[in-house]
Amino acid sequence: MASVEEEQIIEALRGVPVPGSGTDVVSLGLVSGLVIKDRMVHLSVDTSAEKAQEMEPVRVACEKAAATVTGVLSATAVLTEAVEASASAVPAEPDTDTLDIGAIIAVASGKGGVGKSTTAVNLALALARLSKSVGILDADIYGPSVPRMMGIDKQPKINAENRIVPLENYGVKCMSMGFLMEAEEPVVWRGPMVMGALNQLLSEVEWAPLDILVVDLPPGTGDAQLTLVQQVPLAGAVIISTPQDISLLDARKSLNMFRQVEVPILGLIENMSYFSCPHCGECTDIFDHGGARATAEQMGCEFLGEIPLDVSIRETSDSGQPIAVSQSGSVHAKTYMDIAAKVIASIEAQQADEKSAPPKIVMQ
Ligand code: ADP
Repeated sequence: MASVEEEQIIEALRGVPVPGSGTDVVSLGLVSGLVIKDRMVHLSVDTSAEKAQEMEPVRVACEKAAATVTGVLSATAVLTEAVEASASAVPAEPDTDTLDIGAIIAVASGKGGVGKSTTAVNLALALARLSKSVGILDADIYGPSVPRMMGIDKQPKINAENRIVPLENYGVKCMSMGFLMEAEEPVVWRGPMVMGALNQLLSEVEWAPLDILVVDLPPGTGDAQLTLVQQVPLAGAVIISTPQDISLLDARKSLNMFRQVEVPILGLIENMSYFSCPHCGECTDIFDHGGARATAEQMGCEFLGEIPLDVSIRETSDSGQPIAVSQSGSVHAKTYMDIAAKVIASIEAQQADEKSAPPKIVMQ
């Protein structure tokens, strides 16, 4: 199969008009961050938060146009906020060095309700118990629940340097997209809005110094998620799934999304893996069992562990006293600690790999 050239994609995009401009998306210089990898095309269409709504059909048309080029397997376009005219075509992402954060890791799931936030919070607390300085950033725009799970019910304050001071509990710093949203107002987040809010939460918050920042991503693999993973300098991603087939299918999508943008997968966790009866101790595989381990093997990534469906996990996280700290000697807390130790090892292995890798050669 012939390779796909950048020029072919640009040529196809010239056929996408921008309503009201009398010309096309390429002539207006709105296409940036064009990446072709394994015949999959990713690109950004620059816009502003105000114009995001009217530019949505242009974004969709760009995907369609790019997908028609011979040899292209798939095309993804996202709306992003326009970068400075003089800046490079690729949107700038915050630099981990200037942020003074050792590693930013994402906790993701292909769909909602699998216990992603519960796992992210317990993982962050377990990492802190392993002597790491840890922060957790709740980027789940669809239902920011991390502050509640962390037992935080205050709003963050601004310091004398005009920077946001993250809230803290159990020795872990915490910020949430929820703090930027009006309570009970329906929000339609588009790529540019997500990007603006996230950049603010990364660069205007006094996180530093941190060893690890855990980012709780919104569930799914849509436009908002892709924008987030492209914008944050991620050291890796942890994917949460329940054992059922349908959930695993979504987990695979999530895994592939990270691979497409070259974010290392630190591993897969099976949540609600089995039911351990609090009365008789018997284990029942309510949602089947072991699917995530098998999927991890098939997809060539590490299996980090399994967490049972247990009422004590739900009660503790929903009441703001996550089990990793409130019942620190329990078997579940130990499981989170084991997972956290594997995550640290996985981050260190990735970072060692990066250091020893030959310099990247970029063909212009
Ligand atoms: P998500 O972030 O994937 O939408 P949440 O972490 O908010 O999911 O979890 C959804 C609900 O399931 C919450 O009430 C949470 O307490 C509960 N839950 C999550 N994991 C477990 C578990 N292992 N055992 C029992 N309840 C759980």
